[in-house]
Amino acid sequence: MPMSVKTFAQVDEAARALAASRSARYLGGGTLIMRAVNYGDQSFDTIIRTTDPRLKQIAQQGDMLVIGAGITMSEVIANRETAFLAPVARTVGGPAIRNMATVGGNLFAASPYGDFTAALLALDARVVPAGGQPISLDEFLNARERNAGLVIVSVQIPRLRDVNAFRYVKVSRVKPKGIAVMSIAAVLPMQAGRLANARVAYGAMGPRPLRALAVERALEGRSLDEAGIAQALAVATEGVDPPSDPIASDWYRRQIAPVHLKRLLLGQRR
Ligand SMILES: Cc1cc2nc3c(=O)[nH]c(=O)nc-3n(C[C@H](O)[C@H](O)[C@H](O)COP(=O)(O)OP(=O)(O)OC[C@H]3O[C@@H](n4cnc5c(N)ncnc54)[C@H](O)[C@@H]3O)c2cc1C
Repeated sequence: MPMSVKTFAQVDEAARALAASRSARYLGGGTLIMRAVNYGDQSFDTIIRTTDPRLKQIAQQGDMLVIGAGITMSEVIANRETAFLAPVARTVGGPAIRNMATVGGNLFAASPYGDFTAALLALDARVVPAGGQPISLDEFLNARERNAGLVIVSVQIPRLRDVNAFRYVKVSRVKPKGIAVMSIAAVLPMQAGRLANARVAYGAMGPRPLRALAVERALEGRSLDEAGIAQALAVATEGVDPPSDPIASDWYRRQIAPVHLKRLLLGQRR
């Protein structure tokens, strides 16, 4: 089927064109969407893209770090503002994929992909659609199918008081660039030696990245040691719905979740 490509200078124009056509898809870096084209996906015949520089900016705005949706994983790694996210971006595919894979595209990537989005979820990020108000990433992911008609301009991350409070691990069979068995991201703020408002998110433990809400509740007010995290480990798989795929079964993902969560929380190297 012939495929037409429409390029717009302004993201708002691209968003209008996308909203007006059922058979159009937005193109980010293309690592997934061009694969669909190459496999002969007949569900769309138009590709929409924009060269709007707003999608390529990384900027500190007040208390928010703004990352354009068109920023690639390689650009995340190279930029000083996003240095704390470099270990996450490095786990996405190999070098060729990282040169193309964008932050915006990762928001829509089906499980077991979405490692970067899991980190954004732990960081309490907000998603900014073209012509719309920022929405929390939780809310965005819960309605991701409905949000597929939006063009995302950027994500906003609240400033981290202590970057050491952010932790991330990706568990994969092939290192360093294998697909996730699971990924875990956490923000673990401490007040007087106790955890306060910890956020924990999983990748590849459901159809999309999800918060480990039971774990977060069990960590509240606890110390970050074996005794303090015991209850959190006991509820590590509450609310998850892992896929069974060629990488791992649902059963296996459930078995390993508490093991890797424990190592992440206690800061143990794997
Ligand atoms: C070999 C290989 C290895 C991979 N390894 C990993 C991995 O380890 N971890 C991982 O998380 N992912 C992985 N991926 C998946 C993918 O590369 C990443 O998730 C990437 O971030 C997707 O971004 P993209 O810009 O390439 O998306 P695209 O292919 O351009 O788009 C994907 C979807 O997102 C939508 N989209 C893209 N940008 C926007 C936007 N700004 N607004 C609205 N919609 C948008 C598109 O319409 C499309 O539906 C891998 C893919 C391949 C092919």
